[in-house]
Amino acid sequence: MVSGIVAGRLALVTGAGSGIGRAACQVLSREGAIVVAADKNYDAAMETIKTHTALASGKNDADHMAVELDVSNSTAVRNLLTTIMQQYKAPPTIVVNSAGITRDNWLLKLSEEDYDSVLNTNLKGTFLVMQTFSKAMSEAGLPGSIVNLSSIVGKYGNMGQTNYAASKAGVVGMTQSAAQELGKFNIRVNAILPGFIETPMVKTVPEKVVQGIMKMVPLGRLGSPTELAEVIAFLSSDKSSFMTGASIDVTGGY
Ligand code: NAP
Repeated sequence: MVSGIVAGRLALVTGAGSGIGRAACQVLSREGAIVVAADKNYDAAMETIKTHTALASGKNDADHMAVELDVSNSTAVRNLLTTIMQQYKAPPTIVVNSAGITRDNWLLKLSEEDYDSVLNTNLKGTFLVMQTFSKAMSEAGLPGSIVNLSSIVGKYGNMGQTNYAASKAGVVGMTQSAAQELGKFNIRVNAILPGFIETPMVKTVPEKVVQGIMKMVPLGRLGSPTELAEVIAFLSSDKSSFMTGASIDVTGGY
């Protein structure tokens, strides 16, 4: 018998091959969910299923799945829904949009290509996944929870990240609007604004910059992916049943 705050629910996690997405798969499966781990990098998603889910440690008998997905490709997103419906006979009722990229540069040097790729993955990707899967949930008459990864940078900006900050501010506006539209279907939509979390994404930030940032974090350290995943699990579960349209800072006080 599977137990946990999301026991028996089907969860789709994008960006599941690394960092926060991988930790979300780990915590959601620990809490009893069946996980579909989706990432641009199939091998990384499979590694998540094999070594970072409750299944890997023999704690549940769930039928997790790894899939390749480019969230910015609408055909691929639609095809994923078809695959999931064939496999599980129902859409996921938990959707975590964690796929994201940075292509940092000063405004005066930022290429149009790097602007487009960040907006396409972080903002359009969130839109495509949210639209496709909330439609499936509403058509199936199932209540659900969507968790979108924004960033504290979307709220305050950050030098070298005009493209990224715009995409993440967009995710907040999109989350609030979707929450207003989807409430009538009992589909909740919330955003998390992480501060600086120890993942491969932050490893690209120069050490000097990280040290400067840590001086502005009252808790004096970077966050761990699991600390984010615990909040994701809370928002995915009925423990947060009266929360929708919220944007939650998880920053160590930054
Ligand atoms: P991460 O470790 O780089 O993981 C992101 C994953 O998403 C990677 O496996 C990446 O694959 C995948 N991905 C990239 N583009 C994709 C696409 N088009 N379709 C599907 N998957 C794609 O990053 P993270 O730190 O876990 O970040 C997760 C989310 O939290 C992101 O949205 C990020 O912006 C946000 N966030 C992170 C921090 C932080 O400090 N880490 C702070 C604020 C917000 P590749 O590795 O192959 O690109």
